[in-house]
Amino acid sequence: MGDLRLTGVTKKFGAFTAVHNLDLVVPEGSFFALLGPSGCGKTTTLRMVGGLEEPTSGTVELGGQDITRLKPYQRPVNTVFQSYALFPHLNVRDNVAFGLRRRGRSKVDAEVTAMLDLVELGDLGRRKPGQLSGGQQQRVALARALINQPEVLLLDEPLGALDLKLRRTMQIELKRIQTEVGLTFMHVTHDQEEAMIMADTVAVMNGGRIEQLGPPEELYDFPATTFVANFLGQSNLVEGSIVGTDAEQVVVVDVQGAKVAAPRDRARVTEGDVWVGVRPEKVHMVPAMAADPALNRLPGGVVSDASYTGVSTQYLVRAPWGQELSVFEQNHTSQGRFSPGDPVDLTWALEHTFLLDAAQDARAG
Ligand code: ATP
Repeated sequence: MGDLRLTGVTKKFGAFTAVHNLDLVVPEGSFFALLGPSGCGKTTTLRMVGGLEEPTSGTVELGGQDITRLKPYQRPVNTVFQSYALFPHLNVRDNVAFGLRRRGRSKVDAEVTAMLDLVELGDLGRRKPGQLSGGQQQRVALARALINQPEVLLLDEPLGALDLKLRRTMQIELKRIQTEVGLTFMHVTHDQEEAMIMADTVAVMNGGRIEQLGPPEELYDFPATTFVANFLGQSNLVEGSIVGTDAEQVVVVDVQGAKVAAPRDRARVTEGDVWVGVRPEKVHMVPAMAADPALNRLPGGVVSDASYTGVSTQYLVRAPWGQELSVFEQNHTSQGRFSPGDPVDLTWALEHTFLLDAAQDARAG
C-alpha cells in the first residue's frame, strides 16, 4: 500500500490533448474526488490509473512502484462503473464471488457474506441483478470490486444513474464504507455537492488541467480561480482595484467608489485589478442609507427579483453599474423581507471576501 502519484501525466488523442501535464498525489487511505464539467479529462485520468488508457507521457506510481505500463489486471486497482457491468445471469453472491473464483479460490462463502453485510445487502444474495433496484445493483458492483482487496478503488460516476434522493443516501453510504475499509477511493463526478459531501480532497479540473486541489472547505471559502469560484457553488464576482494594505493586514479595494476589504491571507494578489468575490449566503441586504462610508458596504442596489425557496429567499440585486448580484437570506420569522424595487445596500463581514487576480483568466487563455 502507499500513495498514488501521477507525475507529468499527459494524454493526447491525435492532435487533441485531453489531459495536460498532470501532477497529483492521492494519499493512501483518502477519499479523493476529481470534479469538473463534461469533457474536462476526469475519466481519461481515472482510466490511466486503472490501466485502461496509456499516458502519452508521464508516470503513474503506487506506493513508489511505477505502474504506468502495467495491464489493468496486473495492478492492485479496481473500477466501479456507472453502468455497474454486473453479470445478468449470475445471482448477487456469484457476481460478488466472481473475482475470487477467477483467481482459483473455491471457499469464498464467508468473504462473500461479509462483503454483502458491508454493503447492507445481506438477504438479497440469491437474486439476479434484474430483480434489484438501481441502488442495490450499485452496492453489488461495489462489493464485487472490494472483495478483490484492491489498494485503490476507482469510481467513475458510480451514482450517475440514480435519482437525486438515492444519490444522497448512497453518498453517505460510500463514505461510511470507505472509512470502514480504509482503502484509497478515487471518485469522478461532475456534481460539486457530491464531491464536497464525500471527499477529503477535491481536485477541480478544467480543460485537462487541475485548477485547484484541496479540502472542500478550502476550495469553497478560498477559491483560487474564477472557474473554481463559479463551479463550486455560486459566487458574486465584481471588478475592483486594490488601493492598499493597512496595518491590520487588510487589503482594501475600490469597487465603483465604495471601499471593500479582505484579510491579507484571503487575497491571492496585493496590487492591481482584482475580482472581488463573496458567496451569496454571506451577503446581507440592509435598507439603503445615503453616503455611508462603512467598509464592505456597497450602496445603491435595487432588488430585481425575490425567489422564495422555503429555507431561504434568493434575491437578485441590481448594482448601480448594472451587474446583478445574488443574496441568499435564511428565512427567519423575525426578519423582514425585501421586495422587487426596494432600494438596498449590500454588506458582509470582511473575512468572507476573497480576491482573485483579474489578469489570471487572460493569462490562462
Ligand atoms: P464526462 O463527464 O462527460 O465523462 P470527462 O471529464 O470524464 O467528461 P473525458 O472522458 O476524460 O472527459 O474526455 C476528455 C476529452 O477527451 C473529451 O473532449 C473527449 O471527447 C476526449 N476523448 C476521450 N476519449 C477519447 C478517445 N478515445 N478518442 C478521442 N478523444 C477522446
